[in-house]
Amino acid sequence: MKIPNLIGYQTSSEGTSTYQTVNPITDQFHPALFIEATNAEVDRSAILAKTAYRTFSRTSTLERAYFLRTIAIELELHKTDLLATYSSESGLNEQRAEVEFSRTTFQLQAFADVISLENWEIKHHVDAEPERIPTPKPQLTKFKLGIGPVVVFGASNFPFAYSTIGGDTAAALAAGCPVIVKSHPFHAHTSYKVAQLVVKVARELGLPEGVFSHVNATGYEVGKQLVQHSFIQGVGFTGSIQGGLALQQLAQQREVPIPIFAEMGSLNPVVILPSALKEQSDSIAYKLALSITQGSGQFCTKPGAIFLLASAETNYFLETFRSLFEQQASYSMVHPTIARTYTKRAKHLLNQADVKLFAQGNENEACNLGVPQLSITNGKTFNTNKILQEEVFGPHALLVICEDQNELEQILETIPGQLTFSIFQKDENIQTSNLFYIAQEKAGRVILNGVPTGVEVSPAMQHGGPFPSSSDSRFTAVGTDSIERFLRGISIQK
Ligand code: NAP
Repeated sequence: MKIPNLIGYQTSSEGTSTYQTVNPITDQFHPALFIEATNAEVDRSAILAKTAYRTFSRTSTLERAYFLRTIAIELELHKTDLLATYSSESGLNEQRAEVEFSRTTFQLQAFADVISLENWEIKHHVDAEPERIPTPKPQLTKFKLGIGPVVVFGASNFPFAYSTIGGDTAAALAAGCPVIVKSHPFHAHTSYKVAQLVVKVARELGLPEGVFSHVNATGYEVGKQLVQHSFIQGVGFTGSIQGGLALQQLAQQREVPIPIFAEMGSLNPVVILPSALKEQSDSIAYKLALSITQGSGQFCTKPGAIFLLASAETNYFLETFRSLFEQQASYSMVHPTIARTYTKRAKHLLNQADVKLFAQGNENEACNLGVPQLSITNGKTFNTNKILQEEVFGPHALLVICEDQNELEQILETIPGQLTFSIFQKDENIQTSNLFYIAQEKAGRVILNGVPTGVEVSPAMQHGGPFPSSSDSRFTAVGTDSIERFLRGISIQK
């Protein structure tokens, strides 16, 4: 079976290169062959998107809301098949598939609800005052307008919720921007099946051809061509820091630069102070072990560095934490490449001076395991070795034992921008502490006495922090506020 590209309403198979997806639990390839998009196909998708933009951006918000809601219904109708494909391409289990699927349909409905609010498209309206002295005041209405055709790159670890019709695509469509999805090669069939449904709904609703296209690609050429295409006006990216930076550079090199909204990796520091350990040592150990290992640690919000102060409370905590961690199971990661990179990165960390293995989870017979690992170092080593400050994507965390609060705060002052920052501390004045101010300056979301995994889709969610965790910390990638990335203001003056 050959899987074509979806260019507007046409299937298109002009290319000669093909690739397959793999079941990471068994290492067996799936039979479907995905036909890599050619330059001409990519170009056609951009031309169609540009043409569609004029009509689509002027559709009423109710029409666009209906589009999103109908996609959600269509996904539900095909849920069983989609979930099976999702699990066979990612190795993620049924329960995780269910959660992510619900989140995806919920996001579509949430964006539909937001743009259905009365006068949503009007940002501000100011009446005229022709008699104003010394100058008459004009009537001004400021509207929200979609920025233009958008390219979406999904992440490997969220085949539904951060991929084909995930948060970025839903936000862009809600804003009135046509979308071209660069299919993630690790879950290409899941992506294609979802894309077929989006195209079907768009066609049935009589939306302009080009409102949605889906191109197959493994490797960087197609992504590069899309980002550099003069008709593309914005990019939504979820993935690694290296990927996000590469796309940002491409966007800056264009004759007309465009915004890249890149949500990238993060270390997600967790600070655990002795005051919290005095009362909840065991429960913190339990929550943290799960937060590091669930989903094989394949979350952008997985805690990657845990900061503790040298103390008797810390020593007690570490013993419980070690024994809980050693009971954690290993699971197949979403792709052999991800598993290989994880193992290599975790090993590289252990090869650094003054870093030791502290605890390891259980192994089993499945392929492409991400074996949970905790390594340990001291504050001084962490501060001087930048390798220790990079994300290890998978079920790994580094314990950093600091001499005292002074050293801890000095270190945290120098770490790069983060998606999240957790503080476990028993202190009523925590929100006026220096540590809290540092956390606010470093991250998009500060979690008090809790772990960072489990990102709530809510208007109050900020998922995006200072660089390099995101390319633009003013915006969120999760929650209905994320629509702002794909809108610009347009004032009509009378
Ligand atoms: P990835 O390797 O960066 O790939 C993401 C997508 O970008 C893929 O389609 C990939 O295409 C493309 N890509 C990457 N580098 C590119 C380049 N230089 N030029 C053109 N295209 C490029 O990331 P991933 O492995 O899928 O996802 C795991 C990472 O995502 C982790 O670091 C995780 O923390 C992060 N993540 C972040 C968030 C967040 O919200 N901040 C959420 C989930 C995941 P190819 O595969 O064809 O190369």
